[in-house]
Order: sequence, then C-alpha cells, then structure tokens
Amino acid sequence: MARVVVTGGAGFLGSHLCNRLIDRGDEVVCLDNLITGSIRNIENLFGNPSFTFVEHDVSTFIWVPGDVDAVLHFASPASPVDFERIPIQILKVGSLGTHNALGLAKAKGARFFLASTSEVYGDPLVHPQPETYWGNVNPIGPRGVYDEAKRFAEAMTMAYHRHHGLDVRIVRIFNTYGPHMRPDDGRAVSNFIVQALRGEDITVYGDGSQTRSFCYADDEVRGFLALLDSDVVGPTNIGNPVEYTILELAEIVIEVTGSSSKIVFEPLPVDDPTQRQPDITRARELLGWEPEIDVRTGIAKTAAYFSEVLDTHS
Ligand code: UDP
Repeated sequence: MARVVVTGGAGFLGSHLCNRLIDRGDEVVCLDNLITGSIRNIENLFGNPSFTFVEHDVSTFIWVPGDVDAVLHFASPASPVDFERIPIQILKVGSLGTHNALGLAKAKGARFFLASTSEVYGDPLVHPQPETYWGNVNPIGPRGVYDEAKRFAEAMTMAYHRHHGLDVRIVRIFNTYGPHMRPDDGRAVSNFIVQALRGEDITVYGDGSQTRSFCYADDEVRGFLALLDSDVVGPTNIGNPVEYTILELAEIVIEVTGSSSKIVFEPLPVDDPTQRQPDITRARELLGWEPEIDVRTGIAKTAAYFSEVLDTHS
C-alpha cells in the first residue's frame, strides 16, 4: 500500500487512475483545478477514507502534508480544441506545473510519474513511432503549446533524475478513449459517438485518410500501473498499435451504434498529424503489457457511457 498524489485526478485518465489505485489498496490525494476535469468523474470516491480531493491549480506551488510515495502528474488539458481555447494554461501546467510536481516528489523522496504524450513526436516522419524517435514538431503552431510543454516536461523530468537522482517514470500516451471523456471535448471518438447518438452528421476533418491508433482507457491505465511499478526510467509508449484512418473510425462508430448519421467532410485543422501508431515493443518486453480491448468493444462501452451522460444532462 502506498500514498499517491495524482494531479489532474478528476480528468479523463486521472480519474480512472485514482479508481484503480484505490481498488488496489493505495491511498490517493487527488489535485485538480477542474478546468477540464469534473467532480462527476470521481464522485464515487467521495466518502472513501483512502481518498482526498483538493481543488488546486498545480501551476502554482503545491504542498501536500504527510508522507508521499509517488507523485503522478496527469494535470493538463489535452484536446486540440483546448489548444486554441486555453493555450497559456496548457503551457503553464506542462512547465510550471511539472516543476512544482517534481519539487513535491523531491521534497517527499517520492517516485515521479509523468503523463507525456505521442504529441512529442509531432507529425511523425518515422512510422510506427519508437521511443527513440525525436519527433517532428512545429514549435510555434497551435498544437505547439501542448507538444512543446510536454517536451519541456520530459526534459525537466530527466534533469531531476540526472541532477537530483529522483526516481522517475515517463509514459507517452497515444490516443485513448472511454468513459469520463467530455462529450464536448472535440476529439474524434467523443465527437463521432455523440454525433451518432444524436443522429447528427459525423464531422470527418480533411478527407479522413489521416490515421490514429485508439487505446481503451482500461488497457491504458493498466499500462500506467505496470510502468509505475517497474524500474523502467526512460519514456515508454503506451497505446494500442491497431491503426485506423479517421474515415474508418467514423464508419465503425456508425456501425457499432446503429446510427443513421451521415458522414460530412470539414477542413483539416492546422498541423494535424497525418499518421500515428505506437511501437510498443518496449512495453511488451519490459512490462509484459499489451492492450486487450478491440476498438468495437471499446466504442460500444464508450457509447453506453455517453448515452447515460447525455440523458442525465438533457
Ligand atoms: N477529427 C475529425 N473529426 C472530429 C474530430 C477530430 O475528423 O470531429 C480528426 C482530427 O482532425 C484528427 C483525428 O480526428 O485527424 C484525431 O483527432 P483527436 O482530436 O481525437 O486527436 P489528436 O488529433 O490529438 O490525435
């Protein structure tokens, strides 16, 4: 049993992580400023003596009383629509927030775990992407606020490791979906499912030939815990290597939800990566991890969640 701080613990992935940590007997202190996270994602944990929630912006000084065994830094808006809406907050939480979370881990002698991203590879020229690829990022484009903040966060994490001897883990998270996504967060999976459930047009950007590889949240979080518990220091890709075009994804969502929605085409966002697929050799070999949930099963589970959320809100 450990005492774990999760920043961004009320967010999509942070909330799944808090739940899994509590399930396995850990004590969790969840920090979130609720800018994109939601109390709804963690309300089942309120009243549990092993769970504490603190509303706090981790871009400002963090202090948590008592012993801490691990600091898991998951705070950050992560959707392309957020990159346009709240770019400065994204840069701050990736830079100042990471520095503060590292400082807390150092002060407590705790292990530090950074939620990084496949966006560090930018619009990748190497395919699939191994951890050794340095990436192809436009630093001044609209996505640069997220990509560069996370690249800085990785650099800062490794500097704390080398300079202060801090025990660190870095996960590079590829496209992940599942319950607790915001219905309006603008991602392909959430947009398509919500549009399909409402019978609205499915908005494919560009000609839909760009690719992504989608991992279901339960698989992803199982990978996080395997990495957290391992002795693997360098960045590790955790994602599902089965790759789809975005047009194929739209067709799968229509099929799985039995929707009558039609596909329409809209302009491609600036710097939208043309392809993305994780090389998960490292996770397979060092962690014995690989995803188990196929996209149709995961989309059906996510659609069931969204139907419930949309009903409740209407
Ligand atoms: N996308 C789309 N329609 C939407 C939302 C997204 O065609 O309604 C596309 C987007 O342009 C990108 C892909 O789907 O090519 C994945 O987008 P998402 O925002 O889910 O993730 P990311 O671009 O960060 O991988």
